[in-house]
Amino acid sequence: MTQRPHLSPMLGRLRESATIGVTRRARALKDAGRDVLVISGGEPDFDTPDHIKEAAFRAISGGQTKYTATDGTPELKQAIVRKLKRDNHVDVGVDQVVVGTGAKQLIFNALMATIAPGDEAIIPTPSWVSYPDIVELLEGRPVLLECSRADSFKLTPARLDAAITPRTRWLILNSPCNPSGAVYSAAELRALAEVLLKYPDVMIMSDDIYEYIVFDDHVFATISEIEPRLSERTLIVNGVSKGHCMTGWRIGFCAGPRWLVKAMVTLQGQETNGPSSISQAAAVAALEGTLENVRRNNLVYQRRRDFAVDRINRIPGLSCDRPQGAFYIYVDVSGLLGRRTPQGMVLSNDVEVADYMLQEGGVALVPGAGFNASPYVRLCFAYSDSVVEDACHRLARACEKLGG
Ligand code: PMP
Ligand code: GLU
Repeated sequence: MTQRPHLSPMLGRLRESATIGVTRRARALKDAGRDVLVISGGEPDFDTPDHIKEAAFRAISGGQTKYTATDGTPELKQAIVRKLKRDNHVDVGVDQVVVGTGAKQLIFNALMATIAPGDEAIIPTPSWVSYPDIVELLEGRPVLLECSRADSFKLTPARLDAAITPRTRWLILNSPCNPSGAVYSAAELRALAEVLLKYPDVMIMSDDIYEYIVFDDHVFATISEIEPRLSERTLIVNGVSKGHCMTGWRIGFCAGPRWLVKAMVTLQGQETNGPSSISQAAAVAALEGTLENVRRNNLVYQRRRDFAVDRINRIPGLSCDRPQGAFYIYVDVSGLLGRRTPQGMVLSNDVEVADYMLQEGGVALVPGAGFNASPYVRLCFAYSDSVVEDACHRLARACEKLGG
């Protein structure tokens, strides 16, 4: 007799991550021999810098191959404390820091530690795919505040104020933002902080994972640096994945109130224990070493961004603004809705546009629906110049094939 699937009802509330889903489908097409540019995953194409890899080799040959403390090695936690002071002017003790297997795990743990059924988390959208889904999994209520292109996809103080209720547990901020590339200025963060000061029960999750990837004269700031009175209820989320090109090493970190960090460590002790000892040694080298690679990579990203933005804006039906940070362009596809594909299908939303671009154009983009703000598609430009050029060329060709 075959076993019937028996899944927890909890799984009914969880969708596959849109970024991971598109990438999986695109890879399947490529493996089947189709000519597809798999550029849907948001990760740098640059290799991890040598000084970081060398620290990992040293950790292996020096026998750092055992379990570490659940919350991370003392060396890495101290390096995180120093990094937060140096870059962010934020003072925390080592007991306010926890290291996890990527920022994603820590975001999950923080929400799991705090969300009771019916609790609300305010999430400005477009937002990274996983926040609302994790909140829903925990029977919380994601309060999605769609931010318009006219507002540069940023949350305004008035909208925040209007959205806070007695059930609000969290505001989740992400700057530079995946997928819009919006970077909140110090003045914009101050204005949001003024609202938050009125509501002492609201926690703030500041997802700073793209901190180092900012362009032009935009300057990164984190909210507890701007308003230290919020620090006792702010959880800073960061990691080495994006800035240090270490997505596969799986190291993220958080700094926040002791009671929350303690609960997150208890959770982690029952689910994964500490992250890889070797990756942690490498992360120490990343945090303590030169940021020269970061500066060099940003110049390259900026060149790719400018090429792609200018090219996309010349394609009839598409338009986009120049992202201020991160490595994504959020492309407005409203001009393609109602158009007919060569197969006779009328495109009615961004999921269909992204699917058309994948099947017909051979380029993998993530639909805005995954980020809860439509009709857009996300193009990632953290790929080589030639791949980004090819992607834009494919987009143009696919748009040309659409009927009126
Ligand atoms: N936050 C945002 C906004 C992201 O784009 C990502 C990338 N997946 C993460 C968190 C998680 O990063 P990681 O788990 O690689 O540290
Ligand atoms: N953050 C990346 C992205 O948005 C990686 C995939 C994910 O974790 O969602 O594409």
